[in-house]
Amino acid sequence: MNKRVIMHADLDAFFASVEQAENPQYRNQPVIVGGTTGRGVVSAASYEARQFGVHSAMPMWQARQLCPHAIFVPVNGELYKRYSDHTTQLFLSYTPRVEPVSIDEAYLDITGTEKLFGPPLEVARQIRQKINEDLNITISIGLSSNRLVAKMASDWNKPDGLVWICDEQLPEVLDELPVCRLSGIGQVTQQRLSCMGISKIGQLRGIPLELLEKEFGKLGLHLYKASRGQGSAEVREYQGQQGRKQVSEEMTLQQDSRDARYLRMRLLSMAANLARRLREQRSLGKTVTIKLRFSNFETITRSITLQHPTDNWQMIHKAADELLDKMDLGAQRVRLVGLGVSNLRDGAGVSQLSLFDDGPVQAHKLDRACDEIVERFGNGAITQARLL
Ligand SMILES: [Mg+2]
Repeated sequence: MNKRVIMHADLDAFFASVEQAENPQYRNQPVIVGGTTGRGVVSAASYEARQFGVHSAMPMWQARQLCPHAIFVPVNGELYKRYSDHTTQLFLSYTPRVEPVSIDEAYLDITGTEKLFGPPLEVARQIRQKINEDLNITISIGLSSNRLVAKMASDWNKPDGLVWICDEQLPEVLDELPVCRLSGIGQVTQQRLSCMGISKIGQLRGIPLELLEKEFGKLGLHLYKASRGQGSAEVREYQGQQGRKQVSEEMTLQQDSRDARYLRMRLLSMAANLARRLREQRSLGKTVTIKLRFSNFETITRSITLQHPTDNWQMIHKAADELLDKMDLGAQRVRLVGLGVSNLRDGAGVSQLSLFDDGPVQAHKLDRACDEIVERFGNGAITQARLL
C-alpha cells in the first residue's frame, strides 16, 4: 500500500474562540466557557485564561479563584455546532474521507489530492486560512502517515500550528517526548511505566513486546507500536449527521444524591432532549444506556436493547427507569448522571408503524408538537411542564 497522508485538524480552545469571534469585546480577554452554576466545570478556556492555570474539566469554582476577572460564559451548543458544521463542509471540499472525532476535531485522509489542491502542506495552509477568514477562529493541523502521529503533530505547536512529522524523522522526534504524549496512555499506565523506570518514548521502545504484553495485556501491543510511531491510517468516509453513532447527555448534579426520585426526574428531562435530537436528525435508536458516577468518582454504565427502535421520549425514559431500578445504589451518592441512545438507524420510515398500532404514531405526533414548543420557547419549557 502506498503511503497515506493523514491530517489531524483540531480547532483551538474551540468554545472560547467561538465566543471571542462572536463577541468582539471578548477578544484578547480571558474567556471561560462552562457550567456557571454551583457544580459546573470548565468546558473551554481561552489562551488568555490558560495563562492563569485555568484548563478544561476544571471545577468552575477553582477557575474563578485562579482568574476572577475572566469573562464567564455559559455553553451555547447550537452556536458551536454551526461553526463545527462549517469546518466539516470545508474539509469535505478537499476529500470525502473526513472522520470527525468530536465537535472540534477531525481526521482527514488527503492522500492523492495533490493534483487538485497541491501538496499536503499547501492543503493545510489553505484550510487554516479559510477557517480564519470565514470564522475568525484558528485551527491547528498535524500531518503524518498515520492518525497517532498526526494527532501528536497537531498538538505540537498549538494554537494556530502546522506541523508535519515525516516517517524518517520519527525516532528522533519521539524519543525525548514523555510517554503521556502517546494517545491511549492514561495516568494509571503512565504510573506503571514509571515504576518500570520508563518516562520517555525512546525508553519505551527499548522494551520487548513480550514483556509489554505480560505487564499490560492487550495494551502491550499498542504501546509497542505507538512507541515506534505506528498507528492506523484508516479514515472513514464522512457519514453525515446520520452517521452519528449515538446521542447522549450527562449532567453533574447540583448536589450528590441517592434520591431515586430526583435521579428519575433528571433522566426524564434528558430522555425528552434525546428524543428531540433523534427526531431532528431523523434517527431511531435501539439501545438505551445510563451512566452513573458516584461521589468517589467510580462510574458504572448499564444498557438495555429495546424491541423496536424509537425516537419517543416515553420509551427512552421507561428503559432508563428500568435500568435505574436494577442498579444497586447502596449507600453511594450519585454525582453525575448520563443517558444515551445508540444503535441508531434511519428514522424516515417511522409512519410504517401506523399499519400495526396507533400508539407509537400518536406518541410521535405528540413529540413533534413538543419539538415545536421547544423551538418557540426554548429548551426547558417542555421538560419543566412535564416535571411539574
Ligand atoms: Mg480543540
